[in-house]
Amino acid sequence: MSFFSLNRTPDAAIAESPAAAETEVHPTRPAPVVDESAAADQTVTFEELGVARDLVAALNERGITSPFPVQVLTIPDALAGRDVCGKAKTGSGKTLAFGLPLLMGTTTAKKRRPVSIVLVPTRELANQVADELAPLAEARGLWITAIYGGVSMSRQINALRSGVDLIVATPGRLNDLLERGEMSVADVRFVVLDEADQMADMGFLPQVERILKQIDGNPQTLLFSATLDGAVGELVRKYQHNPATHEVESDTQSVDSLEQRFIGVSTDDRLEVAAKICAGATRALVFVRTTHGADRIARQLAATGLRTQAIHGRLSQSKRERALAAFSDGESPVLVATNVAARGLHVDGIDVVIHFDPPEDHKVYLHRSGRTARAGEEGMVVTLVLPEQMRDIAQIQKDAGLDLAIVSMKPDDKRLLDLAAWDAPAGLVWPTGGGSSQGGSGRRPAPRGASGRPAGRGAVRAVSHGDHEGSRRDREPAVAFSRRRRP
Ligand code: ADP
Ligand code: MG
Repeated sequence: MSFFSLNRTPDAAIAESPAAAETEVHPTRPAPVVDESAAADQTVTFEELGVARDLVAALNERGITSPFPVQVLTIPDALAGRDVCGKAKTGSGKTLAFGLPLLMGTTTAKKRRPVSIVLVPTRELANQVADELAPLAEARGLWITAIYGGVSMSRQINALRSGVDLIVATPGRLNDLLERGEMSVADVRFVVLDEADQMADMGFLPQVERILKQIDGNPQTLLFSATLDGAVGELVRKYQHNPATHEVESDTQSVDSLEQRFIGVSTDDRLEVAAKICAGATRALVFVRTTHGADRIARQLAATGLRTQAIHGRLSQSKRERALAAFSDGESPVLVATNVAARGLHVDGIDVVIHFDPPEDHKVYLHRSGRTARAGEEGMVVTLVLPEQMRDIAQIQKDAGLDLAIVSMKPDDKRLLDLAAWDAPAGLVWPTGGGSSQGGSGRRPAPRGASGRPAGRGAVRAVSHGDHEGSRRDREPAVAFSRRRRP
């Protein structure tokens, strides 16, 4: 059976509006999304999923011997020619989930007319996906290249002219090349939309649609995203055809091995506390809000003697690559980053992620945090909280299903040197009341002050005691939430 064997109505991919897409294009609703990760048989082998022997051998050489849940769930559907819509967190192994079927389906392309395209939100991710798939493509005699903005076009144009079978691209640069007539996507048979929610957040969806509309016929599409609501859902309805929908609520890979700490700091102490934590890390990724902040914090951390680089959107591509390389190979074990680096980026062995500036919301919290504890490794995530940030952090915790105390520390606190050795007590941070004196959520016991009376509306409390074990006994015992939300 041909890999691209699914028959579809030819006009299906160019429905003009979501409404049209729903009524005409999409008679079959996607299957309800359920968490199947537990059901995914993790003893199954890549061969049993249908992955070709040469690819299995190439994977084995890299020490990859058994598939992750997202791979178990999606590879067979993709190989059967179905569109796949996968909801999975970072670090769950999506690149191979789409990469293996993609490599098996990709044939030799005509010059400047690739057979397969992978669209990704950032240039770093374009490089990473291309790097991860390149050895596998080589094993199959396929040419792969990464295409992204911020660098000269000429190398990319030359590669296209000599014939590239599979491209990994950011939507902006790909459109530039299409507009200049340097390439065509008309022959594309296979499209991957990786980190679709981030492409939506970054405003790339019009660019993505412009590309999809230039494809003749109906390519097989594989879409992966951490969320499938909003604009991403619309993309699924418009461009996917009866997709096999899988969700991996992957506590299995990363979240289980993620340790999370919230540390209360004063403005004066914040940098020193961060420096202490970085000093104890093998590889620490420090998130800040602005590009200026990234440069400044990197300078200040470097001044404490830590080899530190910054990475953010205002740097030239070559500088970003150099910073990333220095971080990857251990030459510079601290990397200060804006959110640009938060998603999709995979550097092995990041043992600590620090939210130096608070994340904008719980999604950003999870995506930044997902840079550690990848592929089953252990990871520590530390959020530094200034007094005025407590309310926002309480909301983020609530939205992320967390209930961890903000423990105040000075830079000389010994607990900073071994974060794994202590556990933050649960239940000391209460979200704002939202009009109800019962803590807002309705599922949580009313927060109580030291007097035993319910804390006032909007109360957010933090603990600050040296002897944490002792303090734990003194606390209110009733906590309705577990530390981590279980699916
Ligand atoms: P995601 O795209 O979901 O964030 P990646 O595809 O980047 O995750 O995978 C994260 C890491 O896990 C990568 O280093 C990748 O090589 C590794 N990995 C992926 N699948 C497997 C597997 N089946 N066994 C071992 N390691 C894997
Ligand atoms: Mg990825």
